[in-house]
Amino acid sequence: MKLKTKIHLYSTLLMFVILVLAMIVIYFLFQRMSYNTEYEELLNQSNELTQAMSQLSPEADSSVILRAFIPSNGVIEILDEYGESMTTVQSLAGSKITPTDKKVEDEYTLGTFDGTDTLSINVPMIWPTGEVVTLQMTKVLFDAANNLRVLTFVLAGVTIFAMIPIILSSVALGRIVTQPIEKLTHAMNVSRQSGTYEKIRGTVNGKDELAQMERTFNEMMEQLEENFTKQKEFVSNASHELKTPLTVIESYSRLLERRGVDNQAVVDEALTAVLSETNRMKDMIEQLLALAKGTEGRPLNISRVHVGKLIESAATPLRQAYERDISIEADSEWTIETDEEYVKQLLFILLDNARKYSDGNISVSVHTHETTMEIIIKDEGKGIPEADLPHIFDRFYRVDSARTRKTGGTGLGLSIAKEVADRLGATLTVESSIDIGTQFHVFLPKKINVSQ
Ligand code: ADP
Repeated sequence: MKLKTKIHLYSTLLMFVILVLAMIVIYFLFQRMSYNTEYEELLNQSNELTQAMSQLSPEADSSVILRAFIPSNGVIEILDEYGESMTTVQSLAGSKITPTDKKVEDEYTLGTFDGTDTLSINVPMIWPTGEVVTLQMTKVLFDAANNLRVLTFVLAGVTIFAMIPIILSSVALGRIVTQPIEKLTHAMNVSRQSGTYEKIRGTVNGKDELAQMERTFNEMMEQLEENFTKQKEFVSNASHELKTPLTVIESYSRLLERRGVDNQAVVDEALTAVLSETNRMKDMIEQLLALAKGTEGRPLNISRVHVGKLIESAATPLRQAYERDISIEADSEWTIETDEEYVKQLLFILLDNARKYSDGNISVSVHTHETTMEIIIKDEGKGIPEADLPHIFDRFYRVDSARTRKTGGTGLGLSIAKEVADRLGATLTVESSIDIGTQFHVFLPKKINVSQ
């Protein structure tokens, strides 16, 4: 069964049952009230009759008094002490009222006469002759039965009328609930069949859970599409970048094939080029692997480390390999709680860039703030043009391909640095002026938040 039909059916049924129960309760309450009124009336009449009888002389005709007190549509019967009928007077001409199916309530007895309820009361009374008798007054409840019949029609009518808006609202409810689900299913089907990232169309501005579900779905699709586009771009960039060194290697190999190995100058040039391109490819593949693995894989390994020592350990290999001056200015007492390996990797990328893109002095300074420790890596190189600054953290982005080709750059270093910084909860900013130099600022949290 469709969800819409289920909602429709169950809500209508439930409301119908509630309505019918309410109507039944109303019916019985009304019946009880009208029977009580009839009972009170009979009781009053019997009191008056008892009083009138008490003033009657023994010789008087008691049936005249009894007749004067007969309830409309009723009967009065006097029973002697053995329960035998002494006299009976009744108002319904031609038919004797003898209730059947008697049901004794607290104060009165209910019976039926010709399909209509009757109500009887028994009251002790002193007969004019002095003996104690029982006065039994019975009334056929024609009026109450009529009223109850009218009430039944009214209640049935109200139930039928009330069902119309209930049915309409349950249809509307079914539509409200199932429409977003249908839209969602449609969008997913289109996505599956066409291989696109279909979003839910129409208004999704509502504040309810269904609108929220639609918005979340659209956001998820947007994110998936963005990730897919990024991945596609990454793969095409990576293959393009790997193709370049391969082309260089291939062309030098063909050159050697054509010209043979006799020309020493050509051989040297070819070997140098092949070696350098192979190294570049190796670096690139290593960095690609680092990116593919991401920083998500390894859990953070947090310990308290001395910032100065940490910078030293990142700078030492560069000093030794390239014989460059790297000055470090940091208080030896300053420590932070962080992942030592990640910070070292981040600093190494920034220091290596400073080395690659400058010839002068490289300096590292540390400044402490309330919650962060700021490390500034400063060089006096060519700088980065302002227009390129927003893109330098993008994968494969290089300011000047010719320049980086010479330095062996791949355009991946800073994007890895950014990922590592994010993992450490650190902020990475850059300031640069052409021909003056570049400064990278790393704001490391003094105490890393483990949930990151
Ligand atoms: P690469 O491997 O090419 O160095 P990066 O992602 O590390 O890739 O850097 C991206 C670009 O930013 C580089 O191509 C370079 O032009 C520029 N760049 C990075 N650091 C510096 C710096 N310290 N001085 C000048 N330019 C820099």
